[in-house]
Amino acid sequence: MTNTRGYDAIVVGLGGIGTATLYHLARRGVRVLGLEQFEPLHTHGSSHGDSRIIRETYFEHPLYVPLVQRAHELWRELEEASGKSLMTIHGGLMIGPPEGDVVTGTLRSAREHGLPHEVLSAGEVKRRYPPFDMPDDAVAVFDPRAGYLDPDGCTRAHLQLAVSAGAQTRFSEPVISWLSSERGVSVVTRAGTYDAEQLVLSAGPWTASAAPGVQLPLAVERQTVFWFEPPTPRGQYESRRFPIYAYEFKPGVICYGFPELAKGVKASVMHDGQVFATPAAVSREVSEADVRPLRAALSQVLPALARSNVRDATTCLFTNTPDHDFVIDFHPAHSNVLISSPCSGHGFKFASAIGEVQADLLTNGVVRFDLSPFRIGRFRSER
Ligand SMILES: Cc1cc2nc3c(=O)[nH]c(=O)nc-3n(C[C@H](O)[C@H](O)[C@H](O)COP(=O)(O)OP(=O)(O)OC[C@H]3O[C@@H](n4cnc5c(N)ncnc54)[C@H](O)[C@@H]3O)c2cc1C
Repeated sequence: MTNTRGYDAIVVGLGGIGTATLYHLARRGVRVLGLEQFEPLHTHGSSHGDSRIIRETYFEHPLYVPLVQRAHELWRELEEASGKSLMTIHGGLMIGPPEGDVVTGTLRSAREHGLPHEVLSAGEVKRRYPPFDMPDDAVAVFDPRAGYLDPDGCTRAHLQLAVSAGAQTRFSEPVISWLSSERGVSVVTRAGTYDAEQLVLSAGPWTASAAPGVQLPLAVERQTVFWFEPPTPRGQYESRRFPIYAYEFKPGVICYGFPELAKGVKASVMHDGQVFATPAAVSREVSEADVRPLRAALSQVLPALARSNVRDATTCLFTNTPDHDFVIDFHPAHSNVLISSPCSGHGFKFASAIGEVQADLLTNGVVRFDLSPFRIGRFRSER
């Protein structure tokens, strides 16, 4: 890729995915510009906060396992390169009825990929992790390679290393429009027009407005997360002694959580939020009504935590596809514009690997993973 007029590539959106892409492009010597509408590490999108789950078993589908294995490797490399601790692995429990999606899906991915795991009864879980009091008829699959990432730390590390490798960035500069032709792309902001050979739209919940004219059935869903006071005895919620968990408390619906972090013991219910037409329409106030369904779900599996005081709460946005698989594909009308929305609530753990995949797509077109489930064309049959 050479471009005497401007950049080789422009990345729109510097959340978890955009910063990883910026980094992987810059370290290959690509002249890349990152444009972001807000300040670095802002809290309006999907990637902010202190924790995101990473696991190796994958109840959603076994196809994600090779990608998450590469992500694990790249997060460790990023820790090495940045000198920061970004990923903590002390294991995770995937809990639910034996015939439920979480348990059967976790076991399927473990069997298909030969992943280490243990199946534990409610009693075995309680002996190992005393705060857990699961229903007797539930089981847990223990994934020893599960844990959590520090998303703000990951985004900051990708950004700083990308800039060190030569990437340019402009914050508080929303992209207003872009044009693509055979000669390249022109991207317009209030500050000016930038030219490049290729464009990456990693705009998270703003993907619909960043890629106008593409019929993407994306839904922006409000999520709330809570940090609870650690119940006593407090040491039982420490990271080394308390795994991350996902509990399927009704068919297809999970609550999940983390050990004690700086702000408390974080937990949330997944995919029970209100859907909005645009991110701007989302209510950012968190009320008592938001925490009630979480307390009800937690009472079945972590009863003391379910009764604990809330120390802090926030909102965050999912960008959902109907099948909850990602979007990573070139624009149907422009082969130099890559559209990337790896969310549906489970994309952060892959950011390092997706950054590499997107750099591969832009620089040599050779990708070692099957991206066909993430194609935009799959939505055509749904309309
Ligand atoms: C509550 C919650 C919990 C989650 N838990 C997990 C988990 O445990 N594990 C996991 O793997 N994943 C999890 N996820 C999902 C994961 O966080 C997302 O998949 C991931 O953060 C998506 O990153 P992104 O870069 O696509 O989006 P974002 O982080 O939203 O980034 C998009 C960026 O584009 C910018 N932008 C948009 N339009 C423009 C424009 N026109 N001009 C300039 N900039 C623009 C935005 O400002 C934003 O910074 C969770 C998500 C939420 C909300």
